[in-house]
Amino acid sequence: MFKFGHFSGGVHPKGNKNTHFFPTMRLDDFKHIRIPMSMHIGPPCTPTVKAGDPVMVGQMIGEATGPLAVPIHSSVSGIVKSVSRVVASSGNSVEVVDIESDGQYTRHDAIAPPIVNDRDTFLKAIRDSGLVGLGGAGFPTHAKLRIPEGKTADVLIINAAECEPYITADFRQCAEHPDEIIEGIRIVMHYLDIPKAMVGIEDNKPLAIEVLRNELTKIELKENTRPAISIHGLRTLYPQGAEKMLIYTLTNREIPSGGLPIDVGAVVLNVSTVRFIAKYIKTGMPLVRKRITLDGSGLKIPCNVNVPVGAMIPDVIKFAGGDAEAAGKIIMGGSMMGVALDRFDTSIIKHNNAILVFGTKEAEIPQETQCIRCGRCVEACPMHLMPTQLDSASRNKDVTELNDYFVMDCIECGCCTFVCPAKRYLVQSIRAGKGYVRLAKSKEAAK
Ligand code: SF4
Ligand code: SF4
Repeated sequence: MFKFGHFSGGVHPKGNKNTHFFPTMRLDDFKHIRIPMSMHIGPPCTPTVKAGDPVMVGQMIGEATGPLAVPIHSSVSGIVKSVSRVVASSGNSVEVVDIESDGQYTRHDAIAPPIVNDRDTFLKAIRDSGLVGLGGAGFPTHAKLRIPEGKTADVLIINAAECEPYITADFRQCAEHPDEIIEGIRIVMHYLDIPKAMVGIEDNKPLAIEVLRNELTKIELKENTRPAISIHGLRTLYPQGAEKMLIYTLTNREIPSGGLPIDVGAVVLNVSTVRFIAKYIKTGMPLVRKRITLDGSGLKIPCNVNVPVGAMIPDVIKFAGGDAEAAGKIIMGGSMMGVALDRFDTSIIKHNNAILVFGTKEAEIPQETQCIRCGRCVEACPMHLMPTQLDSASRNKDVTELNDYFVMDCIECGCCTFVCPAKRYLVQSIRAGKGYVRLAKSKEAAK
């Protein structure tokens, strides 16, 4: 199988793709749903419901304000129990709508396919759907698809790499819905006038590559022409699915420091995002459910499930034979880039793609020792950064040095921490360094 060139650096963590071959199960048995009003980058939504209000599936319950926000919809039918503020796992206070589900999943009357006939109506529909990038970052998709004046996109890149250990939710998406994935890609190409699309999948998922190629062949037989979409098996190397790495691997184009994919003519969407687009255009049902991988030594039944957004994490864990209270560590996301939860009264959000539950042994934090200047972190960094310099600049809160060593280019992939024999907390320290730079910038702007 032909492989494109690859980026420098990167690591080979154990894949642990234990749930590859288990079809996704739909879970509906949730009595209590908690929907946060902030599930995207950008300002939080304003609740449009109050305690005692009846709600239905797909009904808007959070109104978006500003270009970087998307509305939030109810994922169940039932009664709003409260609208309150809670402390999220990030430590921030967030407004949440708690709903008692009636278990009926009655659809809201207003659900209907959106009227889309050009780029503007398409982008409006995508915003109304509440869609954020489903690969993990939570960036509103309509904003990502809005190509700035003076720029053009000549390639749509679909990220199906799924390089994070354990997670197989995108793989299941490919295996179970290849037709809607290709349909979603064609819709985006059509309304954004992008002439070609490339789908990147790590070569440890040959079935995903095969089913998508078969889908293209079916279209060719039916329409007598092959869509300008190509499916590429890529070297299995973490972080192949990082936007910058994927673009470089597929097109040989390098995004400049501080730049965006559109600066090199690319628009990048996750494979689950395009499948959602196809479904939404057909049905008008907003983003109210999420496919996630459940795995880790703390679960008896590793699996992929489709759950309502807002399902409480302990309930989801219980389904897979785990106990949130007894777990040593719960990670929202993958084992390389996910966030360890420090509280359990939290729920599944739109861009959540996995919950990993581990026992106390795996939760032990290794003891940091002195840097031995081995250079492994530098070799592993896919962004050509100097993690060890950034670490020391961060610990010294030296903003000038952090900028000199391009701290904001760090994609927080964790490769440096993964290879460090001294167990230095590099990515955590670099993340803190970014915070110092942002703070200094905002102080400067306020002068
Ligand atoms: S976390 Fe940042 S510094 Fe470390 S390897 Fe990844 S990009 Fe490089
Ligand atoms: S890998 Fe760890 S020990 Fe080696 S240079 Fe980097 S920080 Fe130092």
